[in-house]
Amino acid sequence: MKFDLRCKFILSKELAGDSIDTFLKNFVDEANETILKKGAVGEGAKIVEWNAEGNEIEMRILSEGNIRSHEGAVRIRKALGAALGKKYKVGIREIVMVDYNISIDAEQEAVRDFSIPFAELKIDGKEIQMRIRDRGEEFVSENYVDRMINLVREKIKAQYYEGKKEYWELIWKSEEKEPVWDKDPSEEMQKLGWLVPGSTKGKWFYRPPAAAIMKAMERIAVEEVVKPLGFLEVIEPMHVSLDTWLKTGHLEGMPGEIYYISEPLTRDERQWEHFIDLVKITKEVPEEELKKNIKPPKAGVCYAQCPNIYFSFSGKTISESSLPVLVFERTVPSDRYESGGRHGIERVDEFHRIEIVYIGTKEQLLELREKLIERYKHVFNNILELEWRMAQVTPFYMQQAGIAGHEEELSKGTIDFEAWLPYRGDRSKEWLEFQNISIVGDKYTRAFNIKGQRSQLWSGCSGVGLERWVVAFLSQKGIDPEKWPPGFKKYLPQLPPMPEFL
Ligand code: ATP
Ligand code: ZN
Ligand code: MG
Repeated sequence: MKFDLRCKFILSKELAGDSIDTFLKNFVDEANETILKKGAVGEGAKIVEWNAEGNEIEMRILSEGNIRSHEGAVRIRKALGAALGKKYKVGIREIVMVDYNISIDAEQEAVRDFSIPFAELKIDGKEIQMRIRDRGEEFVSENYVDRMINLVREKIKAQYYEGKKEYWELIWKSEEKEPVWDKDPSEEMQKLGWLVPGSTKGKWFYRPPAAAIMKAMERIAVEEVVKPLGFLEVIEPMHVSLDTWLKTGHLEGMPGEIYYISEPLTRDERQWEHFIDLVKITKEVPEEELKKNIKPPKAGVCYAQCPNIYFSFSGKTISESSLPVLVFERTVPSDRYESGGRHGIERVDEFHRIEIVYIGTKEQLLELREKLIERYKHVFNNILELEWRMAQVTPFYMQQAGIAGHEEELSKGTIDFEAWLPYRGDRSKEWLEFQNISIVGDKYTRAFNIKGQRSQLWSGCSGVGLERWVVAFLSQKGIDPEKWPPGFKKYLPQLPPMPEFL
C-alpha cells in the first residue's frame, strides 16, 4: 500500500520570526530519522514537503510501510507540539486532513464498482485508489482511515461469497423415522383455529391447544436440558439499546432485521392534544402527527436474548469459583423483520426462544458443549423421537479469512440442529434448523469487558427456538395426541379444548 497525506497542523497562534524555516527543517530531518521510523518494518513514513504560514504548518507525508502516513501525523503532532511549545510557546490546536491518497492493493480483483462513505474510490481490478479530502482530526487520530481500508477489502471479499451458502459439514445424524403424515402443521393448526395471525406482520396468536404444545416444549427444554446442567434463570428487559448492538456487531450485521423502538417526545398531554383531537374526529391513526411526537429510536426489540445478558455483566470481573457462569432467559420473545422469508410458525417476525448463555474458560465451554449435545440428543431421540441431524457450520466470511482451518478456531463456531420436514418434500434436502449451539471465543467477553479473576474468558450461547421445535415435531408426528411418542405424552397427556365459535 502507498500513503500520500497532505495535512495541516493548526496552531494556537501565529508563528513569528524568521528562525521558523530553520526550526522546521531541523524538526523534519530529525522526525524522518526518529519518530517516523520507530517500529517500522522496512522504511518508515517520511515528510517530503512542509510549509509554515500564519498559524498553519502544512506537511506532505509519504509512506509505503506499516507506519501509515496518518499514524505518522499523530506522532508528528505530539513531537511538534512539544518542540513548538518549548521554542515559541505555541501549541497545536488540531490536525486537518487536506488531501489523502491511498493505493490499496486488494487480494482479489473487485468484481464491480462500489463506494464507501467519506472517500472517492477509483477501482481498477486489484488496485484501489482511495481519496479523502478536507476532513477533521477524527480521520487522522481515530482509526477512521484504517477502518475505511478494511471496509474496502471486506466489500471486495463479500462480492465473492455473495449468494454462496455457509460452509456445512454433517457431524451426526439419527436413523430415518417414518413420519405419521406429510402435512404442514402451521396450515393445519390454522384450519383448526389453534393458530391465528396477530394484528401485525409475521406474528401469531396461539390459542390454548397450540399454546399448550409450545409450553410443553418449553418444559421439556427446561427440565431435560437447562436445569440438569445447572443453568439459572434470569429475566431481562425486552428493549436493547443500540449501543449494546454496536458492541455485539448486530448494528452492522443486521440493521434491516431490527424492530426499532421510539420513545414519545413527551408525556405532556398538551403536546399530544392535536394528535388526540385528530383521532377523535377522523377515527384513523394520524401518522404524520404521530411522527412529530416521537423521538428517533435509541433501542430495538430483543433480537436474541444474549446481548442484554452480556450487557448485564459488562465491566465485571468474575471470581474463579463462579466459573462457568450458566444462565438462561425465557421471558422475552425475539423479534426480527424477516420480510419475504416468512412461513407458518417456522419463520416468523416474533418467536419464543429459551436462550442459554455460558461464560467460562475455553476448557469449561468445550466440556459443556459435549454435555449439552448429550442432553439435546436425549430429548430429540427419546422424548420427541425425531429424525434429525447436527452439522458444523462456518459463516462464509470466516472461511474466507482462512480461519476455519486453525485448531484454535475450530473449537469456536456453531453447531446447527436440523430436522426433516416431510411436508416440504424429500428427506434428501428439506431440513429446518431448529436450534444451535455456539462458542464465540472472546468476542463478547472482550466487547463487554468481562474478565475472569485469573482465567481468560470465552463465552457462547445456545438458542432453543420453541416454534421450530414445534414445527419439527408436528411435521413428523402429526397433531393427533394419540400418535405422539410416549415421552412427549408424559409432558402433554391431552390438549386443552378450543372455545366453540358460532
Ligand atoms: P436463519 O439463517 O434461518 O435466518 P439465523 O441464523 O437467523 O437463522 P439464529 O440467529 O442463529 O438464526 O437463531 C437461532 C435460533 O432461533 C434458530 O435455530 C431458530 O430456532 C430460531 N429462529 C431464528 N429466526 C427465527 C424465525 N424467524 N422464526 C422462528 N424461529 C427463528
Ligand atoms: Zn446468543
Ligand atoms: Mg435469520
